[in-house]
Amino acid sequence: MAFEGLADRLQNTIQKIRGKGKVSEQDVKEMMREVRLALLEADVNFKVVKDFVKRVNERAVGQEVMKSLTPGQQVIKVVKEELTELMGGEQSKIAVSNRPPTVIMMVGLQGAGKTTTTGKLANLLRKKHNRKPLLVAADIYRPAAIKQLETLGKQLSMPVFSLGDQVSPVEIAKQAIQMAKDEHHDYVLIDTAGRLHVDEQLMDELKQVKEISKPDEIFLVVDAMTGQDAVNVAQSFNEQLGLTGVVLTKLDGDTRGGAALSVKSVTNTPIKYIGMGEKMDAIEPFHPERMASRILGMGDVLTLIEKAQTNVDEEKAKELEQKLRTMSFTFDDFLEQLGQVRNMGPLDEILGMIPGANKMKGLKNVQVDDKQIGHVEAIIQSMTKAERDNPDLMNASRKKRIAKGSGRPIQEVNRLLKQFEEMKKMMKQMTNMQKGKGKKGGFK
Ligand code: GDP
Repeated sequence: MAFEGLADRLQNTIQKIRGKGKVSEQDVKEMMREVRLALLEADVNFKVVKDFVKRVNERAVGQEVMKSLTPGQQVIKVVKEELTELMGGEQSKIAVSNRPPTVIMMVGLQGAGKTTTTGKLANLLRKKHNRKPLLVAADIYRPAAIKQLETLGKQLSMPVFSLGDQVSPVEIAKQAIQMAKDEHHDYVLIDTAGRLHVDEQLMDELKQVKEISKPDEIFLVVDAMTGQDAVNVAQSFNEQLGLTGVVLTKLDGDTRGGAALSVKSVTNTPIKYIGMGEKMDAIEPFHPERMASRILGMGDVLTLIEKAQTNVDEEKAKELEQKLRTMSFTFDDFLEQLGQVRNMGPLDEILGMIPGANKMKGLKNVQVDDKQIGHVEAIIQSMTKAERDNPDLMNASRKKRIAKGSGRPIQEVNRLLKQFEEMKKMMKQMTNMQKGKGKKGGFK
C-alpha cells in the first residue's frame, strides 16, 4: 500500500493520544516529535515538515482543543486537517474547455510513466466522464514510445494520432488538434518526449509544443519512487513551463510517499492524479482529504465506493454504501464483498481504504492473497445465518463448530470475529466524525 511505513508510524503515534480525556502541552509535544520523525523518514521535505509541525502545534495547544470534551480526538482532527492542507486541500479537478477539444500536454522525464499515464488518463476520461479522447504520439526520440502508445491505443480501442518519428512534435501537435476538431474528439492527450534529465533542448521543444497547442492542462508525470528528486523535477518543469498539475506514479510500490506530501507545498502545483499500478485502470483522482484519511488509518470509504461503482454491480454498490453508513454490515455482506473485491484492484490497497483494516493485525502482517480470502470465506460460510447477522451469538461451542466446518484453526475464527468487530467500531467512529464535520468543536 502507498505510504505504508508512514501510515504505520503515524497511526501508532496518534493512537496514544486518541482516547485521552486530558491532553497536556507535553503530550502534544511528544506526539509531534514522533510525527516529525515519521514524516522525515517518509522523505518529506525538511522545510515542509517544519512548517507542518509548527502549524499543528499552534492549533493543538490552542483553546479549541484543550477545552473540548474529547481533546485526544481533537488533536487528531487537527493533524488530519493540516495533512489535507499540506497535500493541497481541496481536490483539484481536470480542466474542461468550453471550446473543445480540451488539450492536455503530458510531460516528464523518461521512465516516469508518461506514456502509460497518457493511456490511463484517456481510459479514465472515457470510462468515468464519457469523453472521447484522442491520443497523440509526440515522443519521437524514444524509439519505442510511439509503438507503445499505439499498442495502448489498440488495447483500449482508442485512436492514436501519429506521424512517425520524422516529423517535428510541434507539427504533430498541430495536425492532431486539427484532426480532433474534425472528428469531434473532446480531449487531446499529447504524449511528449522525455529525457533522463531536465535539459534545455527538451524544454525549448516543450515550450514550442505548448505555444502551438495552447494546452488547457500541462501535467507533469513524476515517479513517486524517486522521493525528493520528484519534487526537484517538478520545480524545474514548473519554472520553465508553468504546470497545471502533477500526476504521481508508482504509488503502489514500496514508496515512502514523501514526494506526494511535499510536491504541493514546494511547487504550489496540485497533484491531480495518482498512478497505482501498471494496468490501464490503475489511476485515481487525487483527493487530499481522502488520502490524509487513509494515511491516518481512518480509511477511505468514498474512494472504495467509487471503485465499487465503476467495477462492481451498481445496485450492490449502493446497498453497500447504505450498509456502511447505517452500520448494518453483516458477515453475509462481508462475504459478498470478498467475492466482488477481487474486481476492484490489489487487495492490500482495498483494505487500506476500509476504516481500521490496517489496524487488524492478522490482515496486516500476512500478505493478503486469494488463498487467505478463501479461508475467510470458508469460515463465514460455516456460520449459521443467525451468527452471520449477529456475531454476539458466538460462544465457545459455536466457534468450535465453525472451526471444524471450515477446516481452519479456532484461533483464526477468533481473529476474524475480532477483526470484524474492530472494523465495525472504526466505521462507527468514522461516521460520528463525519456527522460532527462542519460543526464548530468537532466530534460530538
Ligand atoms: P515514460 O518513459 O515516462 O513514457 O514511461 P512509461 O510509461 O514507459 O513507464 C515506465 C515503466 O513504469 C513501465 O514499465 C510502466 O509499466 C511503469 N509504470 C508506469 N506507471 C506506473 C504505476 O503507477 N505503477 C507501477 N507499478 N508501474 C508504473
